[in-house]
Amino acid sequence: MTNWKTFYNRIIRQVYLERGAEGFDAVGIARRELQNIDFRIVSDESEIPEEHLKGTTLYLRRHRGHQVGRCPGSHGHLCCNYHTIDLYAGCALGCSYCIMRSYLNFSPVTVYVDPEPAVQLVRELALQKKGETLRIGTGEVGDSLLYDPLFQLSEPFIRGLSDLDNVHFEMKSKTDFVDHLLDIEPKGNAVIGFSLNPPEIADLEEGIASAVQARIAAAKRVVEAGYRTSFHFDPVFRQANWRELYFPLIDSLAGFRKEAIAWISVGTFRYTPPLKDKIADRPYLYEEFVPSADGKHRYIQRVRAQMYRELIERLRAVTGVTAYLCMESAAIWKRVYGRMPDEVEELKGVFDDDPARLKG
Ligand code: SF4
Repeated sequence: MTNWKTFYNRIIRQVYLERGAEGFDAVGIARRELQNIDFRIVSDESEIPEEHLKGTTLYLRRHRGHQVGRCPGSHGHLCCNYHTIDLYAGCALGCSYCIMRSYLNFSPVTVYVDPEPAVQLVRELALQKKGETLRIGTGEVGDSLLYDPLFQLSEPFIRGLSDLDNVHFEMKSKTDFVDHLLDIEPKGNAVIGFSLNPPEIADLEEGIASAVQARIAAAKRVVEAGYRTSFHFDPVFRQANWRELYFPLIDSLAGFRKEAIAWISVGTFRYTPPLKDKIADRPYLYEEFVPSADGKHRYIQRVRAQMYRELIERLRAVTGVTAYLCMESAAIWKRVYGRMPDEVEELKGVFDDDPARLKG
């Protein structure tokens, strides 16, 4: 288990706080934990000195605008009906393939310390969509749990959405920082998920993220505490021995009951041209890629389809769960499943609107 207090000493150097946000619970909790860091008050981000516009700076502020939205998806690719909440924007874990490298290089990590308006927005959305499943998560523009022991911002969402049967609130992480969440009651349909890559790849490409076995151990703890977990094999990298790397990783999930796994997603590595410029030295770029309709470059269709078929088959054999594809084209869906997502019976809970199917 990673000691997050020691960890924060390494990744947080300065904290800026928006004037007027001093009174939020999250700020008080963080102040107690970060006693040796001065919280400097600013009117807005423009007052943060240039030398502090980087990932070791935290900027604590209220959210103005649309904190809850639909996952942007990708042009020409099928969307899995997911909504997102901006909570922690930015991340210091340092994955080499992180899409944020192409646009957030000179930004502090922003923490939206006022969760209540977003909780209310999700509640309103859920009531509007009564009878439909609302999958919603905080892991779109940062890691859901990296800073969460410090700010405890997931808790108001877990508690505040727990009475809504049709809401499945997901926190997604490459850390094992889950212990502050274990005793929260009620948990409702909250899901604590983990992104996984084989240790041989994670050690090289996932910066200072928790060890993969520590993430899986954390998944076991959350399940024992009464949450469901999820697994995201994304991005999956192709290399000559990819089966030897990914199959043992999948096999290590054998101890999870099917009912304890809310969903599993799989997506092969993809990149935008601006990201490629930042990571030109990475060996995984030497494979063959083709541009897709959304401007991202992916492995050629035949290669992707083969990888997906084998990974999904192995995942199904080990966990009993049928994985879905993240940001893939209709052509790939047809090649892999023989059908479109809403016609795959085992994925009805993910792609259609019947909340009962997501219950284990
Ligand atoms: S954990 Fe996610 S957000 Fe953080 S660096 Fe890695 S890919 Fe980016």
